[in-house]
Amino acid sequence: MSLLSYLNRAFNGFPSSSKLLLVFSLSGGGLLAYSESQSNSPANSVEYERLANKKKVVVLGTGWASSSFLKDLDISSYDVQVVSPRNYFAFTPLLPSVTCGTVEARSIVEPIRNIIKKKNGEIMFWEAECTKIDEANKKVFCRSVIESNLVGKKEFSLDYDYLVVATGAEVNTFNTPGVMEYCHFLKEVEDAQKIRRSVIDCFEKAILPELTEEERRINLHFVIVGGGPTGVEFAAELHDFVHEDLVKLYPMVKDMVRITVIQSGDHILNTYDSRISTFAEQKFARDGIDVHTGCRVLSVSDKEVNMKVKYTGENVSMPHGMVVWSTGVSTRPVVKDFMDQIGQGKRKVLATDEWLRVKGCENVYAIGDCATIDQRKIMEDIAAIFNAADKDKSGTLTVEEFNDIIDDILVRYPQVELHLQNKHLTSVTDLLNDPEGNARKEVDIEGFKSALSQVDSQMKSLPATAQVAAQQGTYLSSCFNKRDVAKNTPEGPRRFKGTGRHDFLPFRYKHFGQFAPLGGEQAAAELPGDWVSVGRSTQWLWYSIYASKQVSWRTRVLVVSDWTRRSIFGRDSSRI
Ligand code: FAD
Ligand code: MG
Repeated sequence: MSLLSYLNRAFNGFPSSSKLLLVFSLSGGGLLAYSESQSNSPANSVEYERLANKKKVVVLGTGWASSSFLKDLDISSYDVQVVSPRNYFAFTPLLPSVTCGTVEARSIVEPIRNIIKKKNGEIMFWEAECTKIDEANKKVFCRSVIESNLVGKKEFSLDYDYLVVATGAEVNTFNTPGVMEYCHFLKEVEDAQKIRRSVIDCFEKAILPELTEEERRINLHFVIVGGGPTGVEFAAELHDFVHEDLVKLYPMVKDMVRITVIQSGDHILNTYDSRISTFAEQKFARDGIDVHTGCRVLSVSDKEVNMKVKYTGENVSMPHGMVVWSTGVSTRPVVKDFMDQIGQGKRKVLATDEWLRVKGCENVYAIGDCATIDQRKIMEDIAAIFNAADKDKSGTLTVEEFNDIIDDILVRYPQVELHLQNKHLTSVTDLLNDPEGNARKEVDIEGFKSALSQVDSQMKSLPATAQVAAQQGTYLSSCFNKRDVAKNTPEGPRRFKGTGRHDFLPFRYKHFGQFAPLGGEQAAAELPGDWVSVGRSTQWLWYSIYASKQVSWRTRVLVVSDWTRRSIFGRDSSRI
C-alpha cells in the first residue's frame, strides 16, 4: 500500500475522493497536511431547485451549536440552508493560543463547506448575516458580508418552516466609555490575529530610540480586563510568549514587561472550584502577573485604564500599552429585535423551553450562547401535577399515587433531582415526609405544595460554553431526525397540563468538566465528581483532550504539529 493510499484510509474523516498531500517540511518546522476534496456539488448549485415536499430548515450561524446540529442532521426529509457571515467553524477554546502564535489561526478553523459536504452537497451555505427575523411571515432577511465589489444584489430573503437560531453572542462592553475604540476583544479568530500583531507592536514601540524608561515600561504594560477563563488563559499565554520567546529577541526591555489582570469579583476564575482559583492566583503571583481584584473599569482611553477600587472606594488610573477586554457576552442586535417581536423585549437573553423551542413562537429553535433555557418551575404546575397523580380523586395523594408519576416529574423538572442531592435524600418519596422528617402515608394539596416548595430554588441556568452549545446542537438534530416517529410514539414525559406525552425528552446537559491552562505547561481541571486536578499532568490531559476534540483530522494534525513546532523552535514573532 502506498503512503498516500494508507494516509487516505487513516484520515477517514474525509471522503474517499480526498487527495492527501503530506509535506514534511524541515524549514517549515513541522508536518503540514493539506486535503483537497473533489467537489460533488453541481455547477448550477446556486440556482438549484428546491424539492417542494421537504420542510425548509434555515440555520443561522456556523459556530459550535449549529455545526453540531448540521453534522448529525439527517437531511432526507429537510431542505437545509445555512446563513452565517463566517464560512468556517472556529475551535474557540484554542483562540487564546492563537494570540501568541502557539497555534496558527488556520489550524483551528474548518471550512463549513467541509462539514456540510458530508451530506453530499445538499445543505446550502450562504455567506451573509441575517439582519432580521420576520417571525410572522416565517422569513429571514440576509445581507452578504462581502465588502468587495459584488456584482448583483447583496440582500436576499429566505422562507422557512423551521428556523434554528445559533448566532452566538457578542462581546459585552457594559457601555463602558472607550472600550469599543481602545480595547482588543478575544471572541473571533480575527481578534486573536489582531492581538498577536499588537503584542509585537508593543515590543517594537518599546525599543525605539529616544524613549524614556518610563515610556518603554508603559508600552510594555499589558492589561487584561476580566479574570474569567478567557482572560486568565490569555494572560498565561502572554506570559509564556514573553518569557520563553520575546525576552531573547528584545533583551534590553526584558525586565520592563508587566501583565495585569483586572477582575471585578474577589477572585479570578470565580466560576471554578475555589481550589482552582486559589491555585491560579498563587501561580500568577509566582509568575509576576499582577491580579487586581475588586476593581471595576470605568473608562478606557488610548493611554489609560480608569477604574474604581471596591475596597477603598478610590478611582485609579493605570497607563497601558494595550488592553484586552474579556468580560462576558451579550445579545446580538438581530436577536434583540427578534425578542421585541415575540414579546421577550424585557428579557436580557432569548428564552427557550426545555425542548429548545423559542418561547412565544412556533417552529423556531435557539441553541448555544444566543439563548437560555427557561426551566419550568414545578410550583407553576403543582395543582395540575396533584390532580394528575390523584387517580382516585380522593383529594389526597398516597405514596403509591406519587410513585406512579415520579419518573415523569424527574424528567420534566430536573431541579427535583438536584434538590434531593442537596438535601441528601435517598428516595423521592422522602419529599412527602412531614416537617420533622417522619414518613406520611398521604398528603393533601397544601401538604404537597409545601413538600415541593423548596425544589425550584435549585434551578440554575447553563453557562455560555462550547460544551453546552455542542450538546444542544446534537440534541436538536436528534429531535429533528425522529420527528415523524415521535409523533406516533412520543418518548417524553407526560403532560401534566393537558393529555398525552411530550414528543421528546427535554434537553439535559451533561457536564464533562472544564480546564484552565495557566501557562508554564501547567493547567487546572475541574472534572465530574468534584475532582480537581492541577499541574503538569493536567496540561498533558488538556493537550490530549483538545487534540481529540478537533472537528477534523486536518485540524487535529495541524494543531499537534503547531504544538510540536512551538516546543522545538518557539513561537514566531514576525509582525504579519
Ligand atoms: P458561536 O460559536 O459564537 O457561533 C455563532 C455563529 O453565528 C458564528 O458562526 C457567527 O459568525 C454567526 N453569526 C453571528 N451573527 C450572525 C447573524 N446575524 N446571522 C447569521 N449568523 C451569525 N467554551 C468551552 O466550553 N470551553 C472553552 O475552553 C472555551 N474557551 C473559549 C475561549 C474563547 C477565547 C472564547 C471566545 C470562547 C470560549 N468558549 C469556550 C465559549 C464558546 O466558544 C462559546 O460558548 C461557543 O462558541 C458558543 O457557541 P455558539 O454556536 O452559540 O456561538
Ligand atoms: Mg388519592
